[in-house]
Amino acid sequence: MKIIKSLICIIGAGPAGASTSIFLSKLGIEHIIVDAATFPRNKVCGDGLDNKSLRMLNHIDPNIIQNELLNHPDFVASWGLRSIAPNGRMSNFFLNASPEEQNKPPFFVCKRFNFDDFLVKKINHNYANFLTNTKITDIVKDSVEWKLSGISNKEEIQIECKLVVGADGDHSILLKYLNERKIDRSNYAGSVRQYWEGVGNMHEKKLLEFYFPKNLPMSYFWIFPLPNGAANVGYGMVSKLAVKHKVNFRNQFQKIIESDPAIAYRFKNAKPIGEAEGWGLPLASLKRNIAGDGWLLTGDAASMISPTSGEGIGNAMITGYIAAQFIQHAIQQKNFTKQSFANYDREVYKRFSEEINYYKFSLNYYPSLINHIYRYFITENFIVKPVIEKKIKQWVQTAYEKKVEVNIN
Ligand SMILES: Cc1cc2nc3c(=O)[nH]c(=O)nc-3n(C[C@H](O)[C@H](O)[C@H](O)COP(=O)(O)OP(=O)(O)OC[C@H]3O[C@@H](n4cnc5c(N)ncnc54)[C@H](O)[C@@H]3O)c2cc1C
Repeated sequence: MKIIKSLICIIGAGPAGASTSIFLSKLGIEHIIVDAATFPRNKVCGDGLDNKSLRMLNHIDPNIIQNELLNHPDFVASWGLRSIAPNGRMSNFFLNASPEEQNKPPFFVCKRFNFDDFLVKKINHNYANFLTNTKITDIVKDSVEWKLSGISNKEEIQIECKLVVGADGDHSILLKYLNERKIDRSNYAGSVRQYWEGVGNMHEKKLLEFYFPKNLPMSYFWIFPLPNGAANVGYGMVSKLAVKHKVNFRNQFQKIIESDPAIAYRFKNAKPIGEAEGWGLPLASLKRNIAGDGWLLTGDAASMISPTSGEGIGNAMITGYIAAQFIQHAIQQKNFTKQSFANYDREVYKRFSEEINYYKFSLNYYPSLINHIYRYFITENFIVKPVIEKKIKQWVQTAYEKKVEVNIN
């Protein structure tokens, strides 16, 4: 068996792990990062890059969007949102870009197959020992260090380290070791997504589309535009309500595409590309314990998906950024106990508090709230349109100009 020693090991190189690695390298901190897959690899997702994802990309390199994304054939710049109310009414909201905003779209869409590969190519091999095709299969911890056993390119390995970062997604092996991988249906969502081509009536501004079906609270169907006339199409719902309303995700998804009057006409001449695939969304409202003696969690392993929107890529990247600062602090203190990470959860959860309160209120008291808001209030009228478009402008400012502040103490 091959033994590899490193102070820090990151398990997983999705957006959470890759970002943790990239930001550790920027701080000059050596580490090992492993992923069970070789990149590029598939990941079930809506493929939408929100303002948080763009903000983090700008933290990696302030010119990355202008120089690498805008003309990249795998990325589509999206200039806004389309909401489709339960009665089928469509409302379009997009950025009326000022001259300075011409190269600053509020969103992008990129298949995770390509995006995660793009991101892992930013891992700095001067600081990171990046092992792909390396699956961690067992974890033990003694009083001194962690021993992570696994298979790396058919060879048995053991990684010995002082700090483990669990960035290994919803099925995290570190969570299992910590006995924390329990699914709480109030803070978890189910979903299914499929790629399509030829969906009709897409907007020229490549809007991210959300449809809120009648009588299915806290759920939405999405259509996100991809390059070459393709689209990422999916449906997701909070698990607790999916059980209550006896929703079978695949059947519901199929039903909307085939027979929902608000949507089906757009799929008349469209063709699916590949199968519909399902995956779960661990929501930030769970407020998982995300740090302890010699360990930190980031991204989906930390249950970091925005409960109202289902977005998790940007949150995964932000937790990676914050984790890197805390790891630097732990190294300076020569202390990897939970004392060094005591404020990690405060710095992470402060970004979610309003959203979590709103989500819990909706789920516990009025689950149809979102659908009602969309049905009655979100329209392209002279009051609502400027409010939403101002919000999009603010997202752009945050994404392109605002640094994420981390307070260690
Ligand atoms: C249907 C669906 C639609 C979504 N749509 C969006 C969207 O449009 N926008 C958005 O922002 N978010 C979306 N999300 C959420 C988003 O996909 C996740 O939040 C995001 O992938 C989290 O990134 P991560 O790095 O934490 O985990 P992952 O992306 O899951 O990466 C985990 C990595 O860990 C590796 N790994 C796992 N176990 C091991 C092991 N034992 N050893 C080594 N490596 C291991 C895996 O190979 C993987 O590469 C969606 C999720 C779903 C399910």
